[in-house]
Amino acid sequence: MTAPSLSMAGVTVLAGVAVRHALSLVELADGLSITLPLLLVNGARPGPRLYLGAGIHGDEAGGVALLARALANVDPAQLSGSIIGVLVQNPLALHADHRIPIGHYLKSPLDQMPIDPWTCFPGNPGGPLAEVIAHTLFGLIRQCHWAIDIHTPTRGGRYVPISILPPAALGEAAGRAEELAVAFGSGYVMKTSAGMYVREGILAVEATRAAVPCFTFEIGEGGRLEPDLVAAGTRFVGNALRHLGMLPGAVQRPATTMRLREFVGVRSTRGGLLYTEASLGAMVRSGQRLARIESVYGDEVEAILAPADGLFVRATTLSTVAAGERAATVALVDTTAS
Ligand SMILES: [Zn+2]
Repeated sequence: MTAPSLSMAGVTVLAGVAVRHALSLVELADGLSITLPLLLVNGARPGPRLYLGAGIHGDEAGGVALLARALANVDPAQLSGSIIGVLVQNPLALHADHRIPIGHYLKSPLDQMPIDPWTCFPGNPGGPLAEVIAHTLFGLIRQCHWAIDIHTPTRGGRYVPISILPPAALGEAAGRAEELAVAFGSGYVMKTSAGMYVREGILAVEATRAAVPCFTFEIGEGGRLEPDLVAAGTRFVGNALRHLGMLPGAVQRPATTMRLREFVGVRSTRGGLLYTEASLGAMVRSGQRLARIESVYGDEVEAILAPADGLFVRATTLSTVAAGERAATVALVDTTAS
């Protein structure tokens, strides 16, 4: 059976064909037109439609690279179903990155609205720019059966490769997002009801609420391109496609999948040079040293200790911290999950 043509974003893609398309997003003050770089892949045979997006925060080039590589590996002739790939979900942030490395939490001075579209879903076509971006992306997501939102942590932080689920309270679609996240196979799955990833307005939360099962994936570190992580992420996307029956072959499961239930951040009380001592991904005991802060004279002024037993899930890679900044994050392990 041959797949029907795919009509998306004003483009018609025949069965067994992949098309690059620049989707108009917004006009800037000087008349410059900003577009979203899409890759629309229509498989030779019918099947589900998967949304894959990267780069919604400015400094997440690693996610952009792994999505590009994963999509380049897909042969439309072998594909059942279709893929809506958005290589850079927020092109303005990619440009701004050189000047605004901490784009996540900045406020626009013009309208005092958040400039982070990631938090603005489902968006609003008549709202400020971030909401227009979210609205445009959501228009694509809603036409899909599944979605994955690919990130790297913001610059200065490094995660283990981790899939973060939408809240379980969203019901059946959240359950299907969990199955997809486990099959994705990064080896770490966070299922929590607390923190920024499960708030109202977040891409994966609102997609799942709209019956498009979706999870957030974090890998590596903002501002860096790491070939081994690009290769790993490419393998995980291939697993998702096999899990959904879109590509032939078996899912390559990791040896173990660690199920996690909460992020617990540790903030410094002193400023200085930050030396991380524990290995990212290590199991740590409550009270164990994770890092130390030395004054500019070289004296240790604070030891950063694990706040609980768990996984050392996110390291701060900035070389300096001020008092009150996050120095490390431990994830509590869910011992009840299978
Ligand atoms: Zn991000």
